[in-house]
Amino acid sequence: MFIGIDDTDSERGLCTTYLAAVLMERLRPLGKIVGRPKLIRLNPCARYKTRGNAALAFELESDRQEEVREMALKTLLELSDFSGMNTNPGLVIAPQVTTRMTAFYRRAVTEILEIKDAKTLLDEEGVWYRGFKKGRGLIGALAAVGAALPDFTYELIAYRERSRWGTPRRIDAASVWRADALTYPRTWDTVDHHNNRIVFAPHSGDPVLFGIRGSDPQAILEAFQTIESESVERSVLYQTNQGTDAHILNGEVGNVKDSQSYRLRGVVAEPAQAIAGGHLFFPLQNGTARMSCAAFEPTKNFRSIVNQLTSGDELEVYGSVQEGTLNLEKINILHLADIVETQAPICPECQRRMESAGKGQGYRCRRCKTHAEGRVRWRLPRDLKTGYYEVPPCARRHLSKPLVRMNEEKVHPAR
Ligand code: ATP
Repeated sequence: MFIGIDDTDSERGLCTTYLAAVLMERLRPLGKIVGRPKLIRLNPCARYKTRGNAALAFELESDRQEEVREMALKTLLELSDFSGMNTNPGLVIAPQVTTRMTAFYRRAVTEILEIKDAKTLLDEEGVWYRGFKKGRGLIGALAAVGAALPDFTYELIAYRERSRWGTPRRIDAASVWRADALTYPRTWDTVDHHNNRIVFAPHSGDPVLFGIRGSDPQAILEAFQTIESESVERSVLYQTNQGTDAHILNGEVGNVKDSQSYRLRGVVAEPAQAIAGGHLFFPLQNGTARMSCAAFEPTKNFRSIVNQLTSGDELEVYGSVQEGTLNLEKINILHLADIVETQAPICPECQRRMESAGKGQGYRCRRCKTHAEGRVRWRLPRDLKTGYYEVPPCARRHLSKPLVRMNEEKVHPAR
């Protein structure tokens, strides 16, 4: 059985990953969990997401179908925040994962879908499901079941004791920095060195204590064992599409849709302009088409890279399009344009600057009667290098592939 769950939490509390963790434990007497549970992030532009648009799925080998369904329903009813305005739980239990379900996942991570899209497919594939309230969670639950992960990473989520939910988290900061030093680059986004922050723990009232992301379960475990904190009620290692760019489509400037995420190629048409609040915008051009690219204030030091871009720089940009503007997650500088400065030449006799001899007539020194044809030109050095630059860990989107995972390319990872 392939069990998918989504949309059970609210801003006020609970967490679908916690529900799945508890459910897996409760189902163990009824069968065997196969492989790792999947923590799937869907389209980051989806309107009704609570935080990171997560959905959960896992595989259970069991012939006690009725009892499994009953336990899943009971747990969902117990651990969902039904009072949440936008909490619309969905539960899917499929006998197999079909190619149509996998195609549905691809759409759910790159497009905006309707509840009826999920229901129609579930009915046509003869899958058992239950939706509560509006049942919007069926979109994520079905997508998580269908998720194929050609590329994947891991996240270990540690959960808090129930009695501590809603209280400040007790995590020893020095041990977190130590864990990062020991295991980076096999783990990432635990801390943000440049912004001097610990970024792996939420501040909300939900059951998550922290999450350790990485490519290597062994390194994640090592980091986990290094971290000193309040007691952990349980922990689960998920396989996930986080950090894979699964949301990114190859697109073209002038041919993009809102609420979708792209990789686009173009030339910087003008240097970035800042608006109040410290948000930066620059136009990217490809042929006659142009679009605005943004580096918002929360992207912190990434903005200093964007600020150094100049007209003519050739880029590949990655990000989501909202109201016609692409919100940058990373850029690949393919070619840096020359910035050329010119000045009137110096008189070879008196070493003073010459003056114009009239339009199109070159330069002269009145005193020495010397003459020169044109202005002196020179290239200003560029502080930037070509290659990939990304937003810092404190501004990372779950799905964005961090540069630490692109080690064969010309990369400048933010750390
Ligand atoms: P958390 O990360 O805290 O678990 P969340 O950010 O995952 O919360 P949900 O509470 O799961 O948010 O709400 C997201 C809702 O959006 C779900 O109902 C999910 O089914 C739906 N959804 C997910 N992807 C899409 C999509 N591509 N199009 C339309 N709806 C979507």
